[in-house]
Formats: sequence, C-alpha cells, structure tokens
Amino acid sequence: MKLYNTLTRKKENLAPIKKNQIGFYSCGPTVYNYAHIGNLRTYVFSDILQRALEYNRYKVKRVMNITDVGHLTSDADTGEDKVEKEAKKERKTVWQVAKFYEKSFLNDLKDLNIIKPSKVIRATETVEDQIELIKELIKKKYAYETDNAVYFDVSKFKKYGKLSGQNLDDKLTAARDEVIQDKEKKNGADFALWFKLTGHHKDHAMHWLSPWGEGFPGWHIECSAIASKSLGQPFDIHTGGIDLIGTHHENEIAQSEAAYGKPLANIWMHGEFLNMHKGKMAKSSGSFITMKDIKEKGFDALAYRYLLLTAHYRTKIEFSWESLKASQNAYHNLISEISRKRPVKTGKNTTSYQKKFKQYIDDDLDIPKALALLWDAAKNKDLSQSNVDDLVKEFDEIFGLDLIKQSKKLSKEESSIPQNIAKLAKERWELRQNREFDKADKIRLTLANKGYEIEDQDADFVIKKLIK
Ligand SMILES: [Zn+2]
Repeated sequence: MKLYNTLTRKKENLAPIKKNQIGFYSCGPTVYNYAHIGNLRTYVFSDILQRALEYNRYKVKRVMNITDVGHLTSDADTGEDKVEKEAKKERKTVWQVAKFYEKSFLNDLKDLNIIKPSKVIRATETVEDQIELIKELIKKKYAYETDNAVYFDVSKFKKYGKLSGQNLDDKLTAARDEVIQDKEKKNGADFALWFKLTGHHKDHAMHWLSPWGEGFPGWHIECSAIASKSLGQPFDIHTGGIDLIGTHHENEIAQSEAAYGKPLANIWMHGEFLNMHKGKMAKSSGSFITMKDIKEKGFDALAYRYLLLTAHYRTKIEFSWESLKASQNAYHNLISEISRKRPVKTGKNTTSYQKKFKQYIDDDLDIPKALALLWDAAKNKDLSQSNVDDLVKEFDEIFGLDLIKQSKKLSKEESSIPQNIAKLAKERWELRQNREFDKADKIRLTLANKGYEIEDQDADFVIKKLIK
C-alpha cells in the first residue's frame, strides 16, 4: 500500500512496525457542540483508511481520544475552555455537556457507518498519564513553570515545524508580533501543557491535583499521552483534519519526541476540508450543518457518505444541498443498478475487476476511481448476478454504503408491488416496444397517480414506489 505522508510530502510504501499489524491513532472531537459535517468528513476518511488496511489483511488497532477538557477557544492559550464555556451557556455541568455531545458524535459515526475505533479514550480519564509526561518534559528542560501555567519551550525543540514545513525562526518572529501575547511565555509559540487555577481559569470546574497545584491539562498533551500509552512509540499511522497540522500536530510531535527521543508516528495523514459558500465550514462562523440537519431534510445519512467518496480525501469538497441531492440520486441509482435482473446466467471471471480495485485502494486510497469501477461492473451486461453480488460485497467492505442490505430491501419492495400495478407497467412496456409512446405515457401518468414510478432500463423496467 502507498500512502501520502504529510511529514515527507510524498507517497510512501506502508512498512508496518509489527508484522501484519497497524497501530493507528486519530484525533477525536472536542465535545462542546454537535459535530458539523465538515468535521465528520475527517472521520469518514479515517474509517476508509481503516477498512482499506483491513482489506489488505492487517490487524488494525485504532485509538481515538475524546477532548472533554483543556481545548481553549484560542490556539494562543488565552481563551476560555470550550466545554466550560458551553456549560455556562447551557446552564449544565461540564460533565453533562461533554457526555451529551460525545453521545451525539458517536451516533453520527453510527449513522455514517464509521467503524468505531478499538479504543475511544477521554482526556479526563488519562490526566495521570498526562501529568507524568509533563514531569518528564520538565525534567529534560523542555518545559518550564510560570505563575499561571506550565509551558513547552519550542526553542528547545530544534525540529519544531517539521510537519507543516514552517521554519521555527519564522514562527517565533510571527508570534512575537502578535498583538495578544502572553508575557509569561519565553517564546510566543510556546504552548501550555498545564493550566493552573488562576486568572480566568480560577473557577474551572474540571481540575486535578498536580505537582504544580490544582489545574487542568492543555489540549495537545492528551493526544501525546494517550497515543504512546495505548500504541507504543513510534506507532504506524496518525490521522486528523488538515487544520491540525500547523499547531496541534506540531505540538504533539514536539512533546512526544522531546520526552522519549523517538518519533511519535511514522506516517501522518490529513483529510481536506469540506467547504461551504467558498469558505471553510466552521463552528466559529455560527452557521454549520450537522447530520441532524441532513436527516431532517429527508436525506439518507449514507448519501452524504456517498458524496464524500466521490472525491479523493486530499481534495477539497464544495458542499451544497444540490450536490447532496445529486449524490443521493447517484446512490439510489447504484442500488437499483446492482439489484437489476441480469439475463446472463453463467458467471465470468472477475479477477481483473478485483485487481484494479486493489490497485486503486492501494494507491493512497483512490476511492473515486474504485467507485467508478463498481459502476462499471454494475453496468456490465456480460456479468452474471452472482458476479455482481460478489464484487459489490467485496468492494463495499471499503465503501461502507450498505449496498447489499439496500439492494435486498429494494428487491423486497419490488416484490410487494400489487398485481394490477405490475400488469399496467407491463402493458406500458409493450406499448413502448411498439413505439406507441402516447398510450404508454398515459399509463405512466395513471401509475404515478397511484404512487408508482417506472424506471426504464435497456432491456427491462423497474417499478418503484414513490416516496411521499
Ligand atoms: Zn490530537
């Protein structure tokens, strides 16, 4: 398998650390609001990667964190804790807020057929491990304590910026010029590992005892602690959204490598944005779309998954309701295409399809090409029903579109078509064959009034119940 590594900026052959096994870490959500569909694109990407690894017969151990503490509203360590802020707004406890949005996020994963990672670990459950890691960094003089916090000293970590390709000096200069600058920090780009209960964090509800007094961990440290504890260091693959490269992932790398003197992960992979109205979909802009919105508008959750599969994970997607509608149509058409009765009884050898499929998947997850290949197979008149069924079953292990289940459902619906309707449809088909289109159209109208629609295919037709 070849995968694009953000760290080396090229496609690399996957070389697992342990034979036939992959250790895989994905940054999880901050649970202070509903996930928007742009966030969820990242999780569909990670899910496709997991499925592709399993298709290649690797045993995948995948870990994901849930950020329920320490993620501030500003990356510059000056804002408020997102979960604490939301709790005040909703007049709930921080624990209630975190639990509620975590549940909602896990439901979104289920709706989108995303395989739940082998381990989902909350930041608040691993504070002890995070404290240990911070102690190690202080001991090795990569971190320093001030009146309000413990900071990581980026000037001590010479490779800081290697993931994003930012030069440390440039980053230090840029940070120095920032208007809001924490006077406590040695360098503007230093980031908090631990916040003390001082200043505007005085009343922070979630807090723990540490060698630096009562307080709470910063956002980045949880991923370093959780990942190396559960997967070892280094592990194989680390994923996240492209917006995490510049700060969160640089900081994870800095902390983990400084503490243990070895890489955190071998391959870093990042999913692109989903854009809306020529801008990135973001919670801060106030308008964002959730899975609830998608379902309330009558769309299938999996039509959204289908839309995501039509673009490579490293290209931007412009989202619109029209494009979702087109994807829903394409998804439904694919289901009826694979459910269509096929005249060919004897099967054909399908290895060329399987070979191509694997080739596309192994080329840095080229899902759009793989999906086009399935369409090609579904439309191929030389393939038998069992040929198509086998290919669909195999390919859908990666697509995760429930194609077999949906196709069975469709066939069942079709077999429940009343006899008089089936008779009318057959009459109409024969009229069309005799080129008596006016009469045929009249029957189409009658059927539509009774709630049925006819879809003509090359050699046959399908009766569909109209959705009210
Ligand atoms: Zn992370």
